[in-house]
Amino acid sequence: MYTAIGYAAQSATTPLAPMTFNRRSPRPDDVAIEILYCGVCHSDIHQARNEWGIAVYPLMPGHEIVGKVTEVGANVTRHKVGDLVGVGCMVDSCRHCEACAADLEQYCLEGPTLTYATPDRVDGTNTMGGYSSSIVVSEHFVVRIPEKLNLAAAAPILCAGITTYSPLKHYGVKAGDKVGVLGMGGLGHMGIKFAKAMGAEVTLFTRSASKAEEARRQGADHVIVSTDAEQMKAAAGHFDFLLDTIPVQHDLNPYLETLRFDGVHILVGLIEPVDPALHAANLVMKRRVLAGSLIGGIAETQEVLDFCAEHDISCDIEMLDIKNINEAYSRMIAGDVKYRFVIDMATLKA
Ligand SMILES: [Zn+2]
Ligand SMILES: [Zn+2]
Repeated sequence: MYTAIGYAAQSATTPLAPMTFNRRSPRPDDVAIEILYCGVCHSDIHQARNEWGIAVYPLMPGHEIVGKVTEVGANVTRHKVGDLVGVGCMVDSCRHCEACAADLEQYCLEGPTLTYATPDRVDGTNTMGGYSSSIVVSEHFVVRIPEKLNLAAAAPILCAGITTYSPLKHYGVKAGDKVGVLGMGGLGHMGIKFAKAMGAEVTLFTRSASKAEEARRQGADHVIVSTDAEQMKAAAGHFDFLLDTIPVQHDLNPYLETLRFDGVHILVGLIEPVDPALHAANLVMKRRVLAGSLIGGIAETQEVLDFCAEHDISCDIEMLDIKNINEAYSRMIAGDVKYRFVIDMATLKA
């Protein structure tokens, strides 16, 4: 076993604090990783505070992990000691169901093992995430970080990146398509970059006109202020695809009206009831599709990393000393980060 150190919440109401714990010795198919950087995702806050009701304590968040391989099990073939690798939101799945067989482990019929706060499939211990010095993961759930990528800025690709890339790919966004991105946080700013790299004409929907210049810097061609009814009306029937990254309840109806017939509105940020209610005519009358999407499979996570290297895409980050993690959570809730905090794990040893 390895002795590891990390930051964990001991209950829903206590701040994250240092904790020493054990990581297993590598099983035959495992890779042991020294963690160099870990992105901070909104899910981490929800889980640390048990806002989804599924937390298990102690809870050590972190599922945007980048590090270096330090040891491999006897049967490992994909990675070797010294390789730069990543681990995202999942560390295991059943590996035999229809979803797993289709490289869609995130939809595993038996439920994927999440990177933190889920029982390990072999020994039943509670998984501990990436706010830590090391992690041990089956090689199937470890991806390669392309050399060209900045390691710290690559970390958020493992959740924020794949979450926005996967639906754009699944629905076949291509050159010339008109794509609207709703919201410009960690997910939205990546969505703009991916849609642009796929050749689409990209529009950011935002509540505040003050974000227009920043949206253009991120690559958006146009900006629509969603609180301006005139601007929304002028966009009626315009878009092929809407990537909706808004994490709180919002009225979908005005957005649906901006889609063409056969247009697709895809939810990646909302996991609550739709409120106000959806007017079905907004779907029926134009054969529009309202859909959802969750992260991506492991093969596609490798694909998005390679895509980022090829197209020079990275996440905009602010480096974080792990001692300031609780303050960072407060700033994220206030929307005060452009666009992702990434923990420099060297600060854990300091
Ligand atoms: Zn996440
Ligand atoms: Zn499965």
